[in-house]
Amino acid sequence: MANPLRDRRTAAEWAAGGQVIDIAEKLSFFERLASVVAEDLAALEPAKMPSRWRNSLVTGSLGFGFLDERQRVPVVRCSVAVTVDAVCQRCLEAFRLPLDVEAELLLLAMEETAAGYEDHEVWELEENTLRPQDIVEELLIMALPFSAMHVDLTACKALSAEADEQEDRTKPFAALRAQMNQDQ
Ligand SMILES: [Zn+2]
Repeated sequence: MANPLRDRRTAAEWAAGGQVIDIAEKLSFFERLASVVAEDLAALEPAKMPSRWRNSLVTGSLGFGFLDERQRVPVVRCSVAVTVDAVCQRCLEAFRLPLDVEAELLLLAMEETAAGYEDHEVWELEENTLRPQDIVEELLIMALPFSAMHVDLTACKALSAEADEQEDRTKPFAALRAQMNQDQ
């Protein structure tokens, strides 16, 4: 069966169908996202490369419909999540970075506006048709931090080294006490 994520249809067609696409695909399915992640991981020493980074599961759903009763304004409600492997810019180790995006996007042609919905986010259609895969990919690429860092601070080697140093400074007698204990 063809994967609806790779289907191309006009915004009106997607919206009229009111289709909900459930997403459960490996990261490798999303070539552009995978290449962005690969570029980031390329900074690692080969031995530190997470072996199964392409298998991270992208999950969530896209729900198409109209925002207005007159069915003039097509919209897609997106909820996508994945935990990718990334390189921490503080300690240069690989870590697991969870991404979670919720968005409601108006599906409009370039330069098109929808009166009354100016404060909504817009997915600009560069062609007449759109492919759901491109929306999922773009949302997740945009969610990637410019400078990724360990979410769990205790797991970050750079930070725990810093914390140790701070501890030594706040306890000036710790070293002395350790010395005395050794002398006993
Ligand atoms: Zn780190």
